[in-house]
Amino acid sequence: MTTTPEIKDESFPTHPPLAGVLGWPIAHSRSPLVHGHWLDRYGLEGGYIPLPVHPDNLENVLKTLPKMGFVGVNVTIPHKEAALRLSDSLTDRAALIKAANTLIFREDGKIHADNTDGYGFLANLLQEAPDWRPDQGPAAVIGAGGAARAVVASLLESGVPELRITNRTRLRADQIRAEFGAKVVVYDWAQAGNMLEGAHTAINATSMGMTGKAPLPVPLDALAPETLVTDLVYTPLMTDFLKEAQQRGCMVVDGLGMLLHQAVPGFERWFGQRPEVDEELRQAVL
Ligand code: NAP
Repeated sequence: MTTTPEIKDESFPTHPPLAGVLGWPIAHSRSPLVHGHWLDRYGLEGGYIPLPVHPDNLENVLKTLPKMGFVGVNVTIPHKEAALRLSDSLTDRAALIKAANTLIFREDGKIHADNTDGYGFLANLLQEAPDWRPDQGPAAVIGAGGAARAVVASLLESGVPELRITNRTRLRADQIRAEFGAKVVVYDWAQAGNMLEGAHTAINATSMGMTGKAPLPVPLDALAPETLVTDLVYTPLMTDFLKEAQQRGCMVVDGLGMLLHQAVPGFERWFGQRPEVDEELRQAVL
């Protein structure tokens, strides 16, 4: 019996998938640790690398990476808005948030943009506080930057009855009210403390409280022990905001889990395995 030799088309080599994270600077990013942990844990072939990309080079880099075997990338500061503009298609949530953090390089050469920050935010709270539900009462969001927009979009999509928001620069909070609709109620920055009264969920979505920055200047007197309190800042893990809320009897959830959960959809898409966020991963990243 004769067998036909297998013909390999050398013009289409199959490589293990590559992904990475683009930022400027990028050395601080924990995403390579997260994806590296999952690649090892599931014994998958492929790689995930940090890529320092100056804003002037972003467009060229995004055109080149797919030709080098990359199946997609995460994008972080300062590229989240530019990456959205440079993409060919986008999810509804990325359009609402006006920023991308996950790009998929499709086989037809097109770039598809998503934003998984809101997904990560909700998944973290649901994992750490299993009895909490977003629709059980008003949410109070402190901050109106890119991360706050993701939080607002995810809470509204999950049926939050009222979304209170405050920001040092009021205009950004007013813009969120104009774009996201009537459930959004804007509070003056000077009245931020009042916003916490009767809140079911309270969120710091500013960068205040980060190591090297001043603590959040919002009085917590109106915070009741029933309020679930969370902080997007995760360096330090226990911010002064979380510590004070805990002293008042509130359940608190740190921001590290959001970082871990937001990575899940990209990893699944690029490497074909839905990864788990568990204590082992938290410890590896810490
Ligand atoms: P951003 O777009 O630059 O927004 C920064 C926010 O912080 C704005 O609301 C800004 O108010 C406020 N702010 C900064 N300095 C302030 C000050 N001195 N006093 C009062 N408000 C101040 O940043 P972002 O992307 O939204 O990120 C916000 C934080 O979330 C960062 O710490 C980031 O690391 C964290 N984050 C965490 C995750 C996670 O996975 N855990 C994901 C995304 C972001 P103005 O508008 O008045 O400037």
